[in-house]
Amino acid sequence: MTTTERSTLALLGGTPLFPGGLPLTRVQVPDMPGVLRRVEAILESGQLTNGAVVRELEERAAEYLRVPHVVATASCTAGLMLVLRALCGGPIPAPRARVLMPSFSFSATAHAAAWVGAEPVFADIEAQRLTVDPVDVSHKLDDVAVLMGTHVYGNPCAVDELAQLADARGIPVLYDAAHALGSRHGDVPIGGFGVAEVFSLSPTKVAVAGEGGLVATRDSGLADELRMTRNYGNPGNYDCAVAGLNARMSELHAAVALASLADLEARIARRAELVAAFVAEIAGVPGVRSVLPADGDRSTFKDLTLVVDADRCGLDAGDLAAALSWEGVDTRHYFHPAMHRQQVYARNLPAPDLPVTEALAPAVITVPLWSHMETSVVVSLARLIAEIMASAAKVEQALSAGSVRA
Ligand SMILES: *Cc1c(COP(=O)(O)O)cnc(C)c1O
Repeated sequence: MTTTERSTLALLGGTPLFPGGLPLTRVQVPDMPGVLRRVEAILESGQLTNGAVVRELEERAAEYLRVPHVVATASCTAGLMLVLRALCGGPIPAPRARVLMPSFSFSATAHAAAWVGAEPVFADIEAQRLTVDPVDVSHKLDDVAVLMGTHVYGNPCAVDELAQLADARGIPVLYDAAHALGSRHGDVPIGGFGVAEVFSLSPTKVAVAGEGGLVATRDSGLADELRMTRNYGNPGNYDCAVAGLNARMSELHAAVALASLADLEARIARRAELVAAFVAEIAGVPGVRSVLPADGDRSTFKDLTLVVDADRCGLDAGDLAAALSWEGVDTRHYFHPAMHRQQVYARNLPAPDLPVTEALAPAVITVPLWSHMETSVVVSLARLIAEIMASAAKVEQALSAGSVRA
């Protein structure tokens, strides 16, 4: 990754710091020869699905997560749908079961509920780690069939507080753990909390399969049901009692996932180092903070996300994204707009009262991070953000004068 010497910010007439571009993320699939050997064996066997490689992946993941059952699926979204169907559907999903979840999550969290005929009901988030707020949840549990939390960016939710609230009312808790394969609450891996936790292996996550999901659960009845419903609902004799999906993971995807799981710990350790270097560098910039897990918890740092306090910085997250774009830096606003503000839910559901989400969703910006990034890159990126903020007035002026990217 080359950076250029220049006199001023690109937006103000300088040359871009990352002329070749700095993408948001880069996939690392280790042990390519090993993956290719396995893929060759799968193709030679002719068993492309329902085979031994998916079973091996499920066993390895169960060991890693310290749970008795892991069921591999075609995606995290499909895994969430199947678990929600089991928890609030009948043979055909029951209409309008209420599923309480944070609005501040990826759209798939609510979509999974919508696809099983349930109604997403939105809760607010905690300001520090941006995960669902147990206090707001405690006010919204009436008539709720399932409580969901998302381990946002890999930050574990307040799992103990949520368990206490839900257990007292006999409400099952389901975690969207798409970002959190390798996260820990204290010493306990994310994967064993709630009724089930569903991980994603899609390409922007830290462990990848190409596409894929893993459902972790301690409930053997639920695991058996998921094995059936991911396979059309076929109990083995083609006399379906449930309207299932084809949500199986293929053997080819499992081959990639096994390699990705094998050195996941090393990648997570490296990401933690990179984030620590970034956080140390950005510490002196007023009004900008990195979103970090609670004390004692471990994040995968699936994303490196900042919250920008526009009043203190003189620039908002959108301005920062624009200035970074001039430098060749790719960013996202994960998760803005929050789900309750997206057309599909804003038009069709009552407007919820979510003050923290309303304040923070427009203030987030996710910046590039990948596991094999060099430390110098993340340090340059932090210094660049500091430089942009130090020139806030000029940046604001250039942006409002309509400087458009060349
Ligand atoms: C990526 C993601 C999903 C969807 O995962 P897929 O495997 O692509 O279906 C769900 N929830 C969150 C929070 C995600 O980031």
